Amino acid sequence: MNARWNILYRGPLSSCNYGCRYCPFAKKRNTPAELREDVLKLGRFVEWVEAQAPREFGVLFTPWGEALIHRAYREALLRLGEMPHVRRVAIQTNLACQLDWLGAAERGTVALWCTFHPTETSAAKFAAKIHRLRALGIRHSVGAVGVKEHLPVIEELRSLLPEDTYLWVNALKGKPRYYGQEHIDFLSAIDPLFPINLRQHASRGKACSAGHTSFTVDGDGVARRCHFIETPIGNIHDPDFPSRLAPRPCSKVICGCHLGYVHLEELGLQQVFGDGLLERIPDGFSRAAGSS
Ligand code: SF4
Ligand code: SF4
Repeated sequence: MNARWNILYRGPLSSCNYGCRYCPFAKKRNTPAELREDVLKLGRFVEWVEAQAPREFGVLFTPWGEALIHRAYREALLRLGEMPHVRRVAIQTNLACQLDWLGAAERGTVALWCTFHPTETSAAKFAAKIHRLRALGIRHSVGAVGVKEHLPVIEELRSLLPEDTYLWVNALKGKPRYYGQEHIDFLSAIDPLFPINLRQHASRGKACSAGHTSFTVDGDGVARRCHFIETPIGNIHDPDFPSRLAPRPCSKVICGCHLGYVHLEELGLQQVFGDGLLERIPDGFSRAAGSS
């Protein structure tokens, strides 16, 4: 039996309907021609996944901008979700889109990684959408960037979410000693895994499943072991592509992003997240258990 492949797909789409100040991506407006190209590349990727059956797949879309405001991505999630060999298809989203289309989604397979952006929407509006996802039976994680000025509104969001909804917090790592111990304690009470996110993990020479059972794919089919190592390992459309996947040690000094370090074997996070690895839901999460 072939091993399951977990793929992080990022096509050329790079525009967003929001304008968050802390956005790490180069915000720009895609032209109609660029958007058409993005749709074509997305379609080719979906067809490739379909043709790989019966190999099992997990797919996480990690766009540079917001994808669910585009019909092609909503349709791609629905179509991938219906493929029996696709065990999970998830997407990072700001959740600004309407949610009715998810009524047609394969429950248990389609999942959303929902990020709250306090300068663009209110905690109440965002939480209402999360409750709608819950009513629809769509798997989801919820999170926010731990900007210190946003801690009160992150706390407000926490109070508006169901107790058993995991709320992750991404640490701001650009500024040294940005957080005091009181901030770390506060955010760790909200996200028990915040201390792991806060660290830059020394990764060089260490075993990482990125490039073996997990890898990234761009719009041209170029595969890299992760978003953080530029060197391609092959192209998914080449017949010998499976032979390019192999266990290998990390070549980077540090790995500081959840999308990467979750594959760093010494951290054991594959066991912590289990079935929710792609959409960032810890296995069996409950706040009572998480904070004990
Ligand atoms: S929603 Fe995400 S991609 Fe869009 S501006 Fe905010 S951080 Fe950037
Ligand atoms: S440890 Fe991080 S940077 Fe290194 S290969 Fe794994 S995901 Fe990539």
